[in-house]
Amino acid sequence: MLAGNWKMNLALDESLAHAEACAQLGAKHASLDIAIFPSAFAVAAIQHKLADAKLIVGAQNCHQAESGAFTGEVSAQQWKSAGITHVLIGHSERREVFGESLDQIADKLVSARKAGLHVIFCVGEKIEERKAGRAEVVVGEQLAAITSLMPEDRSAIDIAYEPVWAIGTGESATPEIAEDMHRHIRRALTALRGCGEARLLYGGSVKPDNAAELAAQENIDGFLVGGASLKIESFAAIAQASAP
Ligand code: PEP
Repeated sequence: MLAGNWKMNLALDESLAHAEACAQLGAKHASLDIAIFPSAFAVAAIQHKLADAKLIVGAQNCHQAESGAFTGEVSAQQWKSAGITHVLIGHSERREVFGESLDQIADKLVSARKAGLHVIFCVGEKIEERKAGRAEVVVGEQLAAITSLMPEDRSAIDIAYEPVWAIGTGESATPEIAEDMHRHIRRALTALRGCGEARLLYGGSVKPDNAAELAAQENIDGFLVGGASLKIESFAAIAQASAP
């Protein structure tokens, strides 16, 4: 899978044009699931326009409640009603900038699965946690949110390992660091019945020039890309480098 997290970027006309280019990429790479996560205001319009394309259009976030007085929020049920199939949960910007707690993230997971959405669940340690030798412990604590789900729900989750120190910094994890953590995550998931086969994506400054080496690692099954997903040239080059 190659997923693009557009964050809070691109106007509506730019979003529609870029989504169309990503759909062409999806058609070109039959063996690759291409997913895009546009800004909330553009998601339904893109999904509507490209409903027949080989392209996954997902939401960057959802609220944990089904409905109610939560100004500015969108629930998993609402995304589902708009034909959206995938949602990102636990992105480090949601944790850090918006103060989402592990409990809140676990509630979002439950709510997304109840609505039947496929989840890309983001985990990753901060630089001080890695320096203190706590990276695996921190990621393990984040993964524990998944235990609140039924085993059959756990299999509808992909995990994105995104070390916080590598997101938007230009400093990617080395293939060795990424692979070590992915192996650790795979083992932790295997211990949770029904989850060992989850797809493990790497995210954090993936670019055309480091994608092939990262993609070659045994336990890296794809990428979640931020900055480099905003330009079709770099997104296409990453697709080319990571296509099996
Ligand atoms: C992200 O936001 O999920 C991300 C990985 O960003 P970037 O590729 O820009 O580091």
